[in-house]
Amino acid sequence: MTASSEKGVVPLFRSGIKRLLVCVWLLAATISSHAASPIRYRLTFPEPQHRWMQVDVSFTELGAETLELRMSRSSPGRYSLHDFAKNVYDVHAFAADGRELPTTRPDPYGWNVAGHGGAVTVKYKVYGDRVDGTYLGIDETHAHINMPAAIMWAHGQDDRPATLTFVQPRGMTWQVATQLHPGASPLEFTAPNLQYLMDSPSEFGPVVMRQFTVGPSAFRFALHHAGTDAEVDGYVKDVEQIVRQEGAIYGEYPDYEPGYYTFLADYLPYASGDGMEHRNSTVMTAAESIAGSRLDLLETVAHEFFHCWNVERIRPKGLEPFDFDRANVSGELWLAEGFTQYYGPLVLQRAKLVDVASTSRTLAGLIEAVSEHSGRLVRSAEDMSRMAAFADGGQTTDRTNWSNTFISYYSFGGAIALALDLSLRERSDSRVSLDDFMQAMWRKFGKPGGSGEGYVDHPYTIIDAEEVLAGVSGDRAFARDFFARYIQGHDVADYTRLLSGAGFLVRKRNAGRAWLGDLRLESRGGARVGSLVDPTWPIYAAGLDQDDELRQVDGQRINSDADVAAVLHRHKPGDTVSMVFVDRTGLAKTATVNLAEDPHIEVVPAESAGALSPAQRAFRDRWLGPT
Ligand SMILES: [Zn+2]
Ligand SMILES: [Zn+2]
Repeated sequence: MTASSEKGVVPLFRSGIKRLLVCVWLLAATISSHAASPIRYRLTFPEPQHRWMQVDVSFTELGAETLELRMSRSSPGRYSLHDFAKNVYDVHAFAADGRELPTTRPDPYGWNVAGHGGAVTVKYKVYGDRVDGTYLGIDETHAHINMPAAIMWAHGQDDRPATLTFVQPRGMTWQVATQLHPGASPLEFTAPNLQYLMDSPSEFGPVVMRQFTVGPSAFRFALHHAGTDAEVDGYVKDVEQIVRQEGAIYGEYPDYEPGYYTFLADYLPYASGDGMEHRNSTVMTAAESIAGSRLDLLETVAHEFFHCWNVERIRPKGLEPFDFDRANVSGELWLAEGFTQYYGPLVLQRAKLVDVASTSRTLAGLIEAVSEHSGRLVRSAEDMSRMAAFADGGQTTDRTNWSNTFISYYSFGGAIALALDLSLRERSDSRVSLDDFMQAMWRKFGKPGGSGEGYVDHPYTIIDAEEVLAGVSGDRAFARDFFARYIQGHDVADYTRLLSGAGFLVRKRNAGRAWLGDLRLESRGGARVGSLVDPTWPIYAAGLDQDDELRQVDGQRINSDADVAAVLHRHKPGDTVSMVFVDRTGLAKTATVNLAEDPHIEVVPAESAGALSPAQRAFRDRWLGPT
């Protein structure tokens, strides 16, 4: 901006001065392009056995303002606050001439540096001992780096490119797997801006790498594990099937900015189970091995890879651009996470990696999560999404009543996806499905891309999603009704009817069995109620709740869950039994309970409980068969 306005002034001057000013303008233009000079990060590992990393960061051409250095409070894809500054120490800032600059702490998350003369190198240590999709894990086997947990950045420098140089720990020959762009040397990488840098986890360790292509798209699987190469080869073949099935849903793959998509997997006994999506990569961590937990690990692959469309590019407005200074909130996580949760196991079925019995259990889990949970009555799916900042990795010191009032937007959204998929298929004789909805969302909001790498120019709102459903279904009233009832309202879909079309029975798991609630007793100076009592349980009306001691049911002394089960076994739904309990203040109470029928359901393939009709088989094949 400054350079172009100077250029406009130049013709007003005599030629000599004009030439001089042109030189000044060229110099200014040069400086202006230098203003995008990269922020340089150098990561070294002097004592990996003590689980810390040394980070040196150099900022140049800063101008006169105070440099506001920050550690993130949040991390893309994880919605609670993590306050990564807590593991940063030994922070020192230096001017270009090597003089140490004083730092001040404007808040717990940042360091301000004034009077720096335009260039600052900041050096700090950061401790990290958690291998997952959010934190930092340093030891003698690897440096597993999620950038927000590790990297100090500065306000106002979002558009600057960055270079990262990894320095090999003494005696190691590790390699880096990352979605960062390759740099000038094998251990140097670049990012075009802060958003992309923060979105680029990097595994520096003894990774094994496999590659495959689907059409013009390239995929890399980088694994750090304790298993064999043969296990990796077989596993990556399954990963490729998942990638193919998900590509078929959207009809194409995104243009991965580095030219390939990278799976970063750490299957190590000291890893924490996790999966985290990024634009061109995913981090998947587990304490399990390929040999021991292949299907569970593949389900994470299917979930995370689906995110390279849904959430990374088909992006809710509340998450774009991501703000590293605060918790980011979206009312659309039922779609961003929940629909992804639905497609993970569905794609395993389409890839023939699981059987119909396994899929039946998955369906039952989704249905139970919403239909038998009283949380649905007090918070809609949209409300649940906005709870993410508290529920996703957040910790509370005080007790909450979330077991009665909060349903994870993963399972809630998964159940909505199931209802929507089956409704669309039912209405259209299987010509229209949720796949069409996802593809339409991709074309409208994801595919147009962003003005810069790491950005999405057309994030969607809930109104946009309803509009797309109106278009895909060809029925605006249907879309409005579905959103009003199941997403913004408190209704539950008729899964029994919807699933019968696909040849699945939804039935009571313990039909005819008397039930007083999913009571769980703990032996703590008597048989004490170990969890909140749900308002939908028969014993809720009796006044019993968490920590109360249950003494008698139907005149029988109670010491454990088995004693309760023995009493219930002698009764049937509709019976009334007496109850004696002592509340946590020591007050003895009596009550009567009207027993209900155990409401828990199971989903059973029709062929195992009778017969599967040709129409049901055709519907099911279109739904669960390969695409
Ligand atoms: Zn690793
Ligand atoms: Zn997810």
